[in-house]
Amino acid sequence: MEYVSGLRCINCHRTWPPAAESSLCPGCGGLLDVEYDYSLLARRWSPNQLVASRQRGMWRYLPLLPVDPAAPRPPLAVGGTPLYALLRLAEAVGLNKPLLLKDDGLNPTGSLKDRASAVAVAKAREAGAQTIACASTGNAASSLAGNAAATRLDSVIFVPARAPQGKVAQLIVYGATVISVQGSYAQAFRLSQQAIERWGWYNRNAAINPYLMEGKKTVVLELAEQLDWKLPHWLAVSVGDGCTLAAAGKALVDLHRLGWIDTLPRLIGVQAAGCNPICRAWNEGKPVQACQEDTLADSIAVGQPRNPDKALAAIRQTRGQMVAVTDDEIFKAMGLLGRAAGVFVEPAAAAALAGLMRLANQGVVAADEQVGVIITGNGLKDPGAAERAAGAIHTIVPDIEQVATIIEGGQKL
Ligand SMILES: *Cc1c(COP(=O)(O)O)cnc(C)c1O
Ligand SMILES: [Zn+2]
Repeated sequence: MEYVSGLRCINCHRTWPPAAESSLCPGCGGLLDVEYDYSLLARRWSPNQLVASRQRGMWRYLPLLPVDPAAPRPPLAVGGTPLYALLRLAEAVGLNKPLLLKDDGLNPTGSLKDRASAVAVAKAREAGAQTIACASTGNAASSLAGNAAATRLDSVIFVPARAPQGKVAQLIVYGATVISVQGSYAQAFRLSQQAIERWGWYNRNAAINPYLMEGKKTVVLELAEQLDWKLPHWLAVSVGDGCTLAAAGKALVDLHRLGWIDTLPRLIGVQAAGCNPICRAWNEGKPVQACQEDTLADSIAVGQPRNPDKALAAIRQTRGQMVAVTDDEIFKAMGLLGRAAGVFVEPAAAAALAGLMRLANQGVVAADEQVGVIITGNGLKDPGAAERAAGAIHTIVPDIEQVATIIEGGQKL
């Protein structure tokens, strides 16, 4: 919070003081962006200081976060996830330089959303709230429930009826009050907003809370540090509401304004073909229109995205690309990540790789360019999807000859 200079409206460009609970521009209702005093920060903070820092995980980047350094933070180890450089995977998608895979599925509750939820919980504590609430297709909810539990806050979660079992199981174990809404994500979202207003809870709906995107941006700050501030040509991320993509863009802008990076990677935003409102708006140059939610990649099945403007701005600013992929392509990418990299991801996370595969195939991404892919969620969250991606197992009676038939019979091991 030390370096936050204000909240700037992306619509009317007025700047407002940073209150603990800020959502929309008081002037025009537009979305807000957290702004920092970059020149002061650049004088007081440097990559060398980071090298010396003993703080692990996302709080390494505290000066670039809208959180009071003295306020209590959730004790879970959020961030500090591995970055792999994988030549075999690169070759499998037609690229010659090792593919950089940032595995954020290894966060405490299994998704990148932990980075936003950790900030949400810290801000809720700052605001003196006792209860925090959100609507989510799953990961925002499970990460909120986990981070709230770790901080002894109550959580109330609205989930659409189709949320996968693994994610709902997490909510229950973390002790959240779970309200499963028989309807779409949009309907669950609206209901949560009404409840938040009525009972005065802290709002963790990411798109309209400017602080949460700041938490998510730490995935790219971390990736940049892991690469010694030399970023790849392209960086792919899957897109639902658009906050993760927008957050990636915000991280790049912050680092550029600090003078820590020279060039911005081109962002690739990937949606599912069965639910691609932001992609369509990009291709057609029109405002975003709500669409159906017809994909098994549940975490990005957002027919009425809450943050398309910031997401599209990030694509424009980095001369990036939006691309949509079919569920078949998503499952292929998911299987490939497992087989060729030993990384088990949920479908929404695999979409990012599937998008890259499509662009590499089309020659938009050239074979000698370096690419990073952000893995947003862990495969264990949705075991049902995994079975679709990976195919059958061998089922036999307990008899060694049957094993021999499999092993010696030329069947796929
Ligand atoms: C939330 C989520 C996304 C998309 O993030 P948005 O901010 O909604 O665009 C992608 N993958 C996973 C696994 C997620 O949980
Ligand atoms: Zn405004």
